[in-house]
Amino acid sequence: MASTLADSALTDHSAKSDDDDEEESFDHVLEEFSALPSSPIAKRRSCDSCGRPIKVCICSAFPKERLKISTNVIIMQHPCEESKVLRTVPILSSCLAEDKCKVVIGRRFSSVRHPDLASICSDDSSLLLFPGADAVDIQTIPVTDRSEPYNLILLDGTWPQAKGLYAKNKMLHSVKKVQLQDVGLSEYVIRTQPSKMSLSTCESAAIALSILERDTDIHEVLVKPLRALCNYQLQHGAVAHHHKEDPALPEKKKTYKNRLKNR
Ligand SMILES: [Zn+2]
Repeated sequence: MASTLADSALTDHSAKSDDDDEEESFDHVLEEFSALPSSPIAKRRSCDSCGRPIKVCICSAFPKERLKISTNVIIMQHPCEESKVLRTVPILSSCLAEDKCKVVIGRRFSSVRHPDLASICSDDSSLLLFPGADAVDIQTIPVTDRSEPYNLILLDGTWPQAKGLYAKNKMLHSVKKVQLQDVGLSEYVIRTQPSKMSLSTCESAAIALSILERDTDIHEVLVKPLRALCNYQLQHGAVAHHHKEDPALPEKKKTYKNRLKNR
């Protein structure tokens, strides 16, 4: 997708992880596979805009004009996430103004090879969305009377991949950490979220941006294509998943699927 800035100067495909703990778990791979349409052999025509097969194009759910926001969004993406069929960052980058969303791919980022990123990380206006004991509620971040916009950094991957990205990149350790409080259940039901607190990257960005920009419409605009994607996938044979801690999974699964269909 054109708006995904896999800028070669900022892209690091070469670094090998010494521990592959963040690699896909087998059952996650199965989930991805189960979400694929059942006849992948014949090469399907894809939409030029969203990159999805024509039958399941979600372009109608994208805003007519990209969102003009003041916050700069920087997504540090684990290389395994890039190759996934069902990922949410392309949705996010297609909805935001092109100069407001940058995606950098890699496991390790150094200030020599990634000076732009290092400079963002040392900027007082940068915020890293990464939950933990030392992260503050993003709602407490002051947004008025600011001369420069925030840089919102998100780590894209599974939770172990995101933790690995944080641990291996010291430049992130000095960035002010923020987290989302009281978030609802993920709407991204075709990929199992590891806990009820987990949201997809697009959903997380949608909530964070609506808070930083004081504009709840931003959340709706960013989540609409995600809903469309889920609806199409469910209609084409994917099974709705919920977080793995859910004790009443089968019942809720059914309810949620019906609710999605009725939208
Ligand atoms: Zn499309």
